[in-house]
Amino acid sequence: MSDPNYNPYDNVLQVVENAAQLLGYKPQDYEAIKYPERELQVSVPVTMADGTVHVFEGYRVQHSTSRGPAKGGIRYHWNVNKNEVRALAAWMTFKCAVVNIPYGGAKGGIVCDPTKLSKEELRVLTRRFTAMILPIIGPEKDIPAPDVGTNPEIMGWIMDTYSMMKGYAVPGVVTGKPVQIGGAPGRNEATGRGVMFTTKNILAKHGVDVKTVTVAVQGMGNVGSITAKLLAEEGATIVGVSDVSGGVACKDGLDIPAIIAHLKSGKLLESYGAPGVDHITNDELLKLDVQVLIPAALENQINMSNVNDIKAKFIVEAANGPTTVECDPILEKKGVILVPDILANAGGVVVSYFEWVQNIQSMAWDMEHNNSKLKEIMDRAFEEVFTIAQDKNVSLRTGAYLIAVKRVVEAKKSRGIWP
Ligand code: NAD
Repeated sequence: MSDPNYNPYDNVLQVVENAAQLLGYKPQDYEAIKYPERELQVSVPVTMADGTVHVFEGYRVQHSTSRGPAKGGIRYHWNVNKNEVRALAAWMTFKCAVVNIPYGGAKGGIVCDPTKLSKEELRVLTRRFTAMILPIIGPEKDIPAPDVGTNPEIMGWIMDTYSMMKGYAVPGVVTGKPVQIGGAPGRNEATGRGVMFTTKNILAKHGVDVKTVTVAVQGMGNVGSITAKLLAEEGATIVGVSDVSGGVACKDGLDIPAIIAHLKSGKLLESYGAPGVDHITNDELLKLDVQVLIPAALENQINMSNVNDIKAKFIVEAANGPTTVECDPILEKKGVILVPDILANAGGVVVSYFEWVQNIQSMAWDMEHNNSKLKEIMDRAFEEVFTIAQDKNVSLRTGAYLIAVKRVVEAKKSRGIWP
């Protein structure tokens, strides 16, 4: 992560350019989608618990609104920067397009370490940030959601701040809220659940039973922990997991519910212990001899420094941008089957879409409905991507972008360039 020359937005541009050319588009057809539509940078002052004032750097970037309102999470992490937020916003545009929900793409972030802030500091930071990006967000404009370092409680503060400024309750301004204020039952688990569906789908296409596979998961946050839990429930053996402090491994399988309980008590994996469990680094986790590797932490984890040591047969990208663009052909040559982020982790935004639809219609669906509709959309998108990749003899990433770029470009062309 520390490579100062790494710019994830370059990753996005290369993949989009490649797909647009394969689709036969002329440069003028896709020139506009190479640039974020709108970017807002804010300086967010907070009076800290010790009385000092700290000014945090924050962003909201809207990459595209061609297919509908902008949609995307808010990240609280010390590595947040403008290029990262731009890339994450663009990935949202193509993710919403590949699963065909009527949104564009956005992302936001604050440079901070949320684990070092008190709850009160976090609350005040969130409310001030919301007030500062308020002119560009709203149910018809741009709808934030959780991402790394943020959670339903923080989404609740965003909803309340926006509603107080408007003078009435506006649940549809944000998704991933607590269920009591209009959150969708199942949204918190939706990204991991979608990763589980996708993993089972890709294994089935290759005649592999999920019950026979070994799995390593990098990042035991919201997405990684739910993915690990659901895959273990499906019969997979989870042999390695990690968080920011490092990883744990056990060749006979880890006790995922026990690990999740350990993490929920506020501890990190470095202090987890159980018989037969070894401590490993994040780099060692990525190189474990497993059938399925699920990066579920941050960007730029599988890169030129470790790609040749990856032993997994399948990589399912639960994180956004975990593999750098130059690794794709190397993995392909090694025979690794990679399911790209914009497809694999789309479950979160799909259930966010259900949440928003319910909010703007003042309706409430139950968990069963949300989960079964999620499966329907994830399975359909998977089949579309798999089919086009086979037909055109390209990777699943290229297949996903062929579908997504076409939908975004055609939307842009249908609307025309104003005025
Ligand atoms: P989270 O904050 O809940 O968890 C992040 C995890 O990554 C934690 O276990 C943390 O310890 C670990 N981590 C942080 N820095 C790390 C590092 N340098 N090395 C290794 N591990 C590190 O975040 P999340 O919501 O689970 O998001 C994880 C990934 O999934 C991100 O790429 C995010 O953009 C993507 N994603 C999230 C959602 C969602 O609904 N939350 C949806 C789609 C995609």
